[in-house]
Amino acid sequence: MFTSENILGKTFTCECGSVHSIPTEYFIYSPETFLKIPEILSAKSKNKIVNLFADENTYQVAGKSVRKILENSGWTVQLIIIPETNNKKPVCDDLTFKILNKSLKQADVFLAVGSGVVNDLTKWLAFERKVPYAVVATAASMNGYTAANVAPTIKGVKSLIRARAPFAVFANPEVIISAPGEMTASGLGDLIAKPMSTTDWVMNNKFFGEHFCEKSASLINEIEPLYFNNPEKVKSCELEAVEALVTGLMYTGFAMTMIGVSSPASGGEHLFSHTLDMMSSVDGVSHDLHGRQVGIGTIISAALYERILSIEKPEIHEMPKDIDEIFWGNISGSIAEQYAAKQEKLQVMRDKLSSKTFWTELKILLKKRVRPAKQIADCLGKAGAARKFSDINCSSKRAMTALLHAHEIRKRPTVIDLAWTLGILPSSAEEIFKEYSFGREGF
Ligand SMILES: [Zn+2]
Ligand SMILES: [Zn+2]
Repeated sequence: MFTSENILGKTFTCECGSVHSIPTEYFIYSPETFLKIPEILSAKSKNKIVNLFADENTYQVAGKSVRKILENSGWTVQLIIIPETNNKKPVCDDLTFKILNKSLKQADVFLAVGSGVVNDLTKWLAFERKVPYAVVATAASMNGYTAANVAPTIKGVKSLIRARAPFAVFANPEVIISAPGEMTASGLGDLIAKPMSTTDWVMNNKFFGEHFCEKSASLINEIEPLYFNNPEKVKSCELEAVEALVTGLMYTGFAMTMIGVSSPASGGEHLFSHTLDMMSSVDGVSHDLHGRQVGIGTIISAALYERILSIEKPEIHEMPKDIDEIFWGNISGSIAEQYAAKQEKLQVMRDKLSSKTFWTELKILLKKRVRPAKQIADCLGKAGAARKFSDINCSSKRAMTALLHAHEIRKRPTVIDLAWTLGILPSSAEEIFKEYSFGREGF
């Protein structure tokens, strides 16, 4: 284990003044991890009946062997293969949830075998049924394993539901390493975002007094250099780098769970990705994996901060008054609500920026947290992660549209709002795209 933080299963009073709880009691990353599943699950089940959730693929790579191990230990395993939607990969949405919920048999523990969608649906169903759940991670693709949140699409809109984190996470290095390379690279994109999300969190704390916790913010500091400084090792799936990646992703989930909000691991860089996802639900053009889009968003965030930090005396600019209703079509109502809810904070932001002392103090705080955009871009490139818009199957034009609409979708301010307020957006967007050679065709 790369971290000295022993917080698993603990409830503790923190220096930030809050009491934090980590419901996850076990995180076992080892080649023998599957053999430990029957015993650990036994603590939650008298009758030894488990609902095992997987999709076709995760059942083959891990579900089958986990099932055998459980059955050999006297368990009844009720297998649920998550259905595909319209011949496409399974999705986490209200429709799939309803289908599964209706046909679910009784069991006193649930076990998810899989990453994003499988884990989210199992977490959601377990929360609804008030049943404890555990997860077998099959790829280092995202930080959602240990988070309490589920991110389903409800009536076509990407939503967030607060559920409960798993009581145990099992990860077998052999399974993680044999996952498609693009999934591991996606995990790197999600993880590399953390310092930028933290910078946005610091910004929200300074402007609006949002609760900030140093322990949550710095939870993966010891792990970060192991992947950030060794992207080639991530690409070649060297054991130490992959273990750092998996541990970093799990602890990023804990960082969110202990605070109860997503601020420690989601800022402006995530909005870029969420906007691309939401554009997909409007125009039907497919999007890429979360972490692959977030990685590129992280380069953009860092580049925006570099420009922000070089400003001596801020000039205040008004942000667009309203959202783009034509662009958002049938989801413009919920987008308009989010944007309206942010206006008061944006006024506070403009007011505070006019104080020279405030500006100096803010810059010192932000500077301590950001990472250089070039280093982030290099790391993603060398690790074989998505680094250009063409890698995420997106034109420069579409990426530009996403960036210039990203401020509309959430009520919490991020670096994107600060950049608009300081006049960096929209004017420097093309320059940033050019500087990081994002486009296939350039400008
Ligand atoms: Zn994420
Ligand atoms: Zn704290």
